[in-house]
Amino acid sequence: MSNNECEELFNQLPVSLLCKRVDHDDIYANPACLTLFGVSEEFSEFFSSLSFYDIDSRERLAGDEHPFAQCASDTTQRLVVRIKSRARSLNCSVSGRLIKVNGERWVTLHITNIQDNDVTIFQSDNSPLANHLAFSRLLSAISSQLINVSTDHLDSLIERSLGAFGDFCGVDRCYLFQFSDDKRSMSNTHEWVAPGIAPYKDDLQHMDVSDLPYFGKIIKHEHVFKIDNVAHLPDDAALEKQEFERERIQAVLCVAVHINDDLFGFVGCDIIGSPYAWREHDIRYLRLIGEMLSNSLENVANRLSLQTMKSRLEEANQQLAYLANSDGLTGIANRRQFDEHLSGTISRGIRASKPVSLLLIDVDYFKRFNDTLGHLVGDNALKEVARAIDGCCKRCDDLAARYGGEEFAVILAETSAAQAQQVADEVMQAVASLGITFGDSADNVPLTISIGIATAVCCPSLTVSQLITQADKALYQAKAGGRNQVACL
Ligand code: GH3
Ligand code: MG
Ligand code: MG
Repeated sequence: MSNNECEELFNQLPVSLLCKRVDHDDIYANPACLTLFGVSEEFSEFFSSLSFYDIDSRERLAGDEHPFAQCASDTTQRLVVRIKSRARSLNCSVSGRLIKVNGERWVTLHITNIQDNDVTIFQSDNSPLANHLAFSRLLSAISSQLINVSTDHLDSLIERSLGAFGDFCGVDRCYLFQFSDDKRSMSNTHEWVAPGIAPYKDDLQHMDVSDLPYFGKIIKHEHVFKIDNVAHLPDDAALEKQEFERERIQAVLCVAVHINDDLFGFVGCDIIGSPYAWREHDIRYLRLIGEMLSNSLENVANRLSLQTMKSRLEEANQQLAYLANSDGLTGIANRRQFDEHLSGTISRGIRASKPVSLLLIDVDYFKRFNDTLGHLVGDNALKEVARAIDGCCKRCDDLAARYGGEEFAVILAETSAAQAQQVADEVMQAVASLGITFGDSADNVPLTISIGIATAVCCPSLTVSQLITQADKALYQAKAGGRNQVACL
């Protein structure tokens, strides 16, 4: 039998065969095999485009791992691989045989498409029912992860879900699209592609929905867009046909995804190179995946809006706490915060018997200041004085507060009388440096303050009012002494 006779015999066999002579490069496919890959007649491009991929690792099989090489070294091989041709790619079961024809060794590969689930990625049991069960188990595993998925892991889980469906149905590409808020444009946010298939995601960003009007109408109103053969699309789908042909898509299935009853986007899958009759369970599973994704996207969206609300509430609470503790005019601590801080400082000082000092500060002749320059100028002067006093509180436990009217206070934790005197001098200096005067003329009297200092060692019997009374007495003495001075009892 010659090579031609051999090929003629192969041609008549009803099974799909790929053959190659050992140590020769030319690959031969019989008609049954060409039909399997959607090629109507033998053409050289088919052979040059043939490549083989490992289904799990997605690596291209070459060298010793190439199915022809594996079958040449071991006469009975059975492999599961993805075979890609220019026309289309298929997950295939491959049985190899090394045969001899006229003394020449040929490797023959018997190719069976496993798309119909006679053999699938779930290899424990080959029955379709077992595969469906395995798929359901996989989906429920993914869906339980999706329930509590963090925002960081959502993207990879979505891609895994798309891949699970893609593998199960043997499609070439599987994806999620999201509509913009105004539903005028859509973007491919997640994509899974079968081994050897070119991804298209980057190319499909911010697409104008009006460029695919037929698709847009069906996905919005019917929620399932199912095309077995792009060639049979109706005339009003000319734009869609053009786009699908550009991507070499021949069969498409898309299912709408809703979030909170609003159309969010769609999940879909493509078959490249040949038509494909979508089955009921393809639609059912894709719909299931769509619902699963919409639930988790909804959860994440709700969680995000809850988080936003929570942080807004926290901000509002902080603002409230600030308002409750600060003086409206000057922005420094108010009387309320002063009271709390002073009793806290005394309590903390008791443990180590530390001294605490208090300065009571009163603006001199402020009534006259108001009378001369007006209440508004008086207000501004109080703000400046407050800022100057606050600037002298350098340690984290120091607190400057508006005690009331034109009176201020400074609490100095763990501060002796001598140290307090120093701070009081600084405050006197800071206020003098403001250069506020009672009028505009050159001989104008400057605005001054009087300070009374109280210092006590913290002990359980020391009260807030004792310290205040002591400081008040010192302040009275400073006033009586002629004002613009510091007094300490
Ligand atoms: P002394 O040196 O004895 O402290 O004299 P004084 O005029 O400062 O004291 P007095 O208690 O008689 O007057 C305090 C003045 O402070 C009267 C009041 O109008 C003014 N004052 C209190 N709170 C404010 C405020 O929020 N804004 C303005 N502009 N003035 C205030
Ligand atoms: Mg006063
Ligand atoms: Mg005063």
